Amino acid sequence: MIKFINANIYRNSEATEILVKDGVIQQMGTDLPSADEEIDLKDRLIVPPYVDSHLHLDYVYTGGGADAKNASGTLFEGIARWHDVKKTQSFADAKQRMLKGIQEEVSKGVQYIRTHIDVCDPDLTGLKAMLELREELKDNVTIQIVAFPQEGMYAYKGAVELMEEALKMGADCVGGIPHFEWAYEFGQDSVRKTVELALKYDKLIDVHCDETDDPQSRHVQLLNALVMIEDIGARSTASHTCSFGSADDAYAFRMMGLFEQSGMNFIALPTENAYLQGRQDTYPKRRGLTRVKEFWENGINISFGQDSINDPWYPAGNGNMMNILDNGIHLSQTMSLPQLDVCLDFITFNGAKTLNIEDQYGIEVGKAANFLVLNADTPFEAVRQRADVLASVRNGKYLFKKPEPSYEIELDVFRATK
Ligand SMILES: [Zn+2]
Repeated sequence: MIKFINANIYRNSEATEILVKDGVIQQMGTDLPSADEEIDLKDRLIVPPYVDSHLHLDYVYTGGGADAKNASGTLFEGIARWHDVKKTQSFADAKQRMLKGIQEEVSKGVQYIRTHIDVCDPDLTGLKAMLELREELKDNVTIQIVAFPQEGMYAYKGAVELMEEALKMGADCVGGIPHFEWAYEFGQDSVRKTVELALKYDKLIDVHCDETDDPQSRHVQLLNALVMIEDIGARSTASHTCSFGSADDAYAFRMMGLFEQSGMNFIALPTENAYLQGRQDTYPKRRGLTRVKEFWENGINISFGQDSINDPWYPAGNGNMMNILDNGIHLSQTMSLPQLDVCLDFITFNGAKTLNIEDQYGIEVGKAANFLVLNADTPFEAVRQRADVLASVRNGKYLFKKPEPSYEIELDVFRATK
């Protein structure tokens, strides 16, 4: 038995102690029975682990080569560059880069990742490497895999067959990229095929949907309608939906009512889409994000993801979800004082809902003792200070723990320096 004491638990004002046995939370409250080991959390904010609900682990660290140079900084040139880069990818190289990407995320407090893996590859090299890693690391990081046709379900010959193969091999979700198909009708066909495959193989859905500034790109309408008819809205996600940020209000308000009905999830990718979108705009220049604020305020589930770690689409990215949150709440203007108290939801609970892992996620009796210790004592201070993760606990054990920052020479602004 381990007892964690003096915990300041996010969205739980009752309990300050957590009693853990065999990695599972046995009791929460105050003045709990003593245990063999007692760990003092010193009133630090304790949050459930960060969820990166949208990442591309097969692309990580491929952004530096000459083949990867994306001169226009657009999504479409990124896809063209990846087409060249992946030709030289070996299984060993892919697996080693993915492992490094996972380590970088976990080192910053992520314990749950949904990764898209490109299946437009006759050898399915990236998928094979990812399936091995998902199994090897499952005790310490939960990974979901999306079978993702990066070069188009119809624009890439044989993509549908490769997607089916990937789903049979163990991918968890069906992906899609309708705005990239060569005609709007092909995009619509791809949305139908995504839903058909999800039903056939009993998988979740996560579509790269309308990742463009073109307000006429409205594939989200068909996706939402189909998952609502099949009653699988909660198991389905529309990622990006950047065009919804450019859509006119009459369409947007009609759709938001339908999104509420379907219960479909949304994911915004703040840093990447702020970087990639608006490239054909002069000024005013669009922000690239979907209607995050309106979704959130209307009870439509929306989470944030990292999307890229140094790949042909986006040169930066390091798995720091606090940085993603910071960018997301600024770009979407979700920073009223009450919102700042709960906006950590974008990178925790909302992502868990999207991943359909709510039965195992959260700091509650009966669930695995998985949580983070942040270097702040309130949610507001955590966001204001962009608080560092001091420790990540998985199954009641430390994945890592670091000391609070200390100084060799402490600041004294009155010290004589001149
Ligand atoms: Zn993506």
